[in-house]
Amino acid sequence: MKIYQGKSVVAGTAIGTIRFYSQDRPAISPEKTADTAGETARYERAKAQALKELEELCGKTAGEAGEDAAAIFRGHGMILADEEFNASILQRIRAGKSSAAYAVSSAADQFCRMFAQMEDPYLRERASDVRDAAQRVIRILQGGMCSAVPGDEPVILAAVDLSPSETVQMDRDRLLGFVTELGSDSSHTAILARTMRIPALCGIPAGEELDGRPAVLDGAGGKLIVDPDEETLAKYRARQEEERRQRDLLGKLKGKKTVTADGTEVCLCANIGSAADVDAALENDAEGIGLFRSEFLYLEKDRLPTEEEQFQVYRQVAERMQGRPVVIRTLDIGADKQAAYLNLAREENPAMGYRAIRICLDRPEIFRTQLRAILRAAAYGRIGILFPMVISVWEVQQAKKYVEESRMELRRAGIACGDVELGVMIETPAAVILGGPLAEEVDFFSIGTNDLTQYTLAIDRRNGTLDRFYDARHPAVLEMIRMTVENGHRGGCRVGICGELAADVSLTETFLKMGVDELSVAPGSVLPVREAVRRISLK
Ligand code: PEP
Ligand code: MG
Repeated sequence: MKIYQGKSVVAGTAIGTIRFYSQDRPAISPEKTADTAGETARYERAKAQALKELEELCGKTAGEAGEDAAAIFRGHGMILADEEFNASILQRIRAGKSSAAYAVSSAADQFCRMFAQMEDPYLRERASDVRDAAQRVIRILQGGMCSAVPGDEPVILAAVDLSPSETVQMDRDRLLGFVTELGSDSSHTAILARTMRIPALCGIPAGEELDGRPAVLDGAGGKLIVDPDEETLAKYRARQEEERRQRDLLGKLKGKKTVTADGTEVCLCANIGSAADVDAALENDAEGIGLFRSEFLYLEKDRLPTEEEQFQVYRQVAERMQGRPVVIRTLDIGADKQAAYLNLAREENPAMGYRAIRICLDRPEIFRTQLRAILRAAAYGRIGILFPMVISVWEVQQAKKYVEESRMELRRAGIACGDVELGVMIETPAAVILGGPLAEEVDFFSIGTNDLTQYTLAIDRRNGTLDRFYDARHPAVLEMIRMTVENGHRGGCRVGICGELAADVSLTETFLKMGVDELSVAPGSVLPVREAVRRISLK
């Protein structure tokens, strides 16, 4: 068994035999021609043929993978029709007396170099589109056919590189997944693979030696496992089964409401830790983001993220959710989430120590920076701010003061900001007991059952030796949830659950009977929970 670590392009598991695909493109020699008029005409005919092929490909792709994917080939058509590109080719034929194929190839090289030097990674990737479009004309000039995956068996395709044209022309039923050595997750080949739901990796050294070998492609983990042993195969077969179940659910429940059989609606949201996770939330049809754990923005850096950096991320999430609610939890750092640059003192008991709102209220410069970024992003979507680890009413009042001050600052500076709803995480017994007065202060409660369990049961949530005693379904925890819903509703607050317990479908009915308004779960749990809700009747 050999494991190659590459980079994930499209998540998903594929199990099968590898077929090494070599493009074998004939070399184009720089031969001279005396018949420049003849080569010009040949070029024009080949270009017309290529544009026709691209038009057909657009239609086929739109049907199979949607309009966004089809736009890739519309873009190739635009490259071939581009005036500057054409002038550069014709100039090479006429003045340089090059063959048409050589002229196209060297003009494409020049344009690719131009794109490859661009700073923006998206534009850099467009070099491969120029190469792909030019390759189509060259193939026609050389009288070649479109290449395709050889053989009849479904395979995992390995290649040094794959162009969008090659990818879309492959028979989807025979393509279990693909790995390439080159490429990136923002290439058009990656975008196509994503819309066609083909598990894919890049950064895997691909050569003849892989051909015919059994393998597992772990799209999410970025791994290609060649010659897997039985244990590995069993693990990935189970994962494939789970993915299949998820796809079935997706087909059945995407676009449907989260509503009980007798008509009670629940808001079913996703928890995310980065802007990239919005893909998974949308893919699983989440009705909003119920918890954005913003601390990951701080943990991935070796310094505090600036207001502008945070604003860009929050704005992107808000815009991509298109008016659906996005709840951003303010910095919940400390305990098991440490950022060295904050120089926090070592603590004997960090879970009960200096963390979350305690740090924010002590270091308002950090808190205000984040609040300003969130308020600015609120001009682009529906945003809620959630305060973590609250134990006292004064903490919330103080936090609200900072929100208001930040809003005034932005207004005075003429910077756009939007309205936000405010919420408290209910994750300490103190917050549960103070549910009444806390509800007077905010618009919503979000119950963090992970911490609520640890603080209610006095069990460190990371201590595996106490697993026997740690029970998130403990009657004391369930009673805490019930009390929170009651107190929240009495004070006019919506009440949701965003801890792991929200995804426990054996408790969904209990939660709904308590009157929980919202459940926020990992993106992969959205549809299983929707399925559970739709089976429940509350009467
Ligand atoms: C929780 O405590 O339940 C929660 C959602 O927050 P975290 O897991 O990030 O502490
Ligand atoms: Mg928590």
